[in-house]
Amino acid sequence: MDTNYFKTKLEEEKAKLEKELSLIAHRDPQNPDDWKTDPERLNVMVSDKNELSDVFEETTNKEALEQELEDSLNKIKDALQRIEDGTYGVCKEGCKIEEARLRANPSAETCIKHAESV
Ligand SMILES: [Zn+2]
Repeated sequence: MDTNYFKTKLEEEKAKLEKELSLIAHRDPQNPDDWKTDPERLNVMVSDKNELSDVFEETTNKEALEQELEDSLNKIKDALQRIEDGTYGVCKEGCKIEEARLRANPSAETCIKHAESV
């Protein structure tokens, strides 16, 4: 299997996610792998500052979005680590992940058969 192809795809995706994350969050200085949403940037995104409930809603959405982006980023980092370790493309259950599946989702951790049970 051509892991270089997947490595490039994963690196591209990682850069994209980090860019998106940097718009709404910043890295935790104590733990650079963790991202925190930026409360001080919230006002920039909220058009009517008098609507406090909207601000809360915005915060919730932003945190949910940040979490989603961070989860995807972590999966990509794990996949890149598996490339380094030489275990990329191996399903959690020990079988081989279909190449078509990896092309659709380079950070997949399981084959199609085992995807349901995880
Ligand atoms: Zn499997």
